[in-house]
Amino acid sequence: MKKKILVTGGAGFIGSHLCERLLNEGHEVYALDNFFTGSKENVLHLIKNPYFELIRHDVTMPFFIETDEIYNLACPASPVHYQHNAIKTIKTSVMGAINMLGLAKRKNARILQASTSEVYGDPKIHPQPEEYWGHVNPIGIRSCYDEGKRVAETLFMDYHRQNKVRIKIVRIFNTYGPRMHPNDGRVVSNFIVQALQNKDITIYGDGTQTRSFQYVDDLVEGMIRMMQNTPENYVGPVNIGNPGEFTMLELAEKVIQLTGSKSKLTFLPLPSDDPLQRKPDISEAKKMLDWEPKIHLEEGLIKTINYFKTVV
Ligand code: NAD
Ligand code: UDP
Repeated sequence: MKKKILVTGGAGFIGSHLCERLLNEGHEVYALDNFFTGSKENVLHLIKNPYFELIRHDVTMPFFIETDEIYNLACPASPVHYQHNAIKTIKTSVMGAINMLGLAKRKNARILQASTSEVYGDPKIHPQPEEYWGHVNPIGIRSCYDEGKRVAETLFMDYHRQNKVRIKIVRIFNTYGPRMHPNDGRVVSNFIVQALQNKDITIYGDGTQTRSFQYVDDLVEGMIRMMQNTPENYVGPVNIGNPGEFTMLELAEKVIQLTGSKSKLTFLPLPSDDPLQRKPDISEAKKMLDWEPKIHLEEGLIKTINYFKTVV
């Protein structure tokens, strides 16, 4: 059945891939974005599709449209961007959630929140299962993002319990792929851009901290399964991530090798509150979504490197 689907943050990195996939499935897609970190270029290839609409709007303001499903992705995701205007970041998560939940309630639409592994903070349990409540600094430089996303989860659960809004929550772990912003400061884009330009690869700290990187297509598949294939009463939260865990030193070596770069490593101070390790426990996603990531780091990096070759 053709559905009317609203994607907030639809002109961003993940949002643009999600819009593309939903259009390919034959749905009508509205991408709402204020173009803070997203861009028209990210969705330029979709504009000619008559079932696609790009709407300039800020989710901190109410918005009304006929819709069957809402994917709420609007929020800058990289530390450089979300710390640029910390107050705006937390407003986007909190007021954006309230406005989109209000719309879902009014239209009886199903709504999915793009939450994050950052709700686990600097985790004391490894790997992180959904039951873990996290270890988040409420007053640090990452708090505008982490706590904003935690409040958004609370709002989703309360609208569900109190107003029977049809919600789904996914907790997304570090994701990479084509259309990442080249200057957003995230590790995969930084390393690839630096390697392609034969510049020093910037390792923060000693590079032994770990992350688990998932390719964007795997994430989009997981999000759509959560929205479309789970029972109405199953709301999550569910982790969507790739359990392959790498140190930043390992990532740098892989990127240098795959690009054939002459770059050397340079070591810079570790930003405050930077989590030491992160890896999803995806048993829940396997059980409830019949999902697991398919694309290995090397394969995904090659696709991403090929994209960045066209933009840098
Ligand atoms: P992104 O910055 O590319 O996309 C965010 C989009 O939201 C951008 O297009 C931006 O312009 C838009 N936006 C920001 N504030 C807005 C506002 N007030 N009103 C309307 N639009 C606004 O980042 P992304 O990596 O595509 O992330 C998308 C979502 O996924 C975010 O909610 C992020 O928190 C979540 N997420 C991403 C990752 C990751 O590794 N990329 C990990 C966990 C969670
Ligand atoms: N990082 C790094 N060099 C960079 C950018 C990031 O070593 O040029 C590190 C960063 O300190 C963190 C990890 O890479 O430990 C992942 O950073 P990113 O900003 O991509 O994601 P997040 O910290 O939000 O998981």
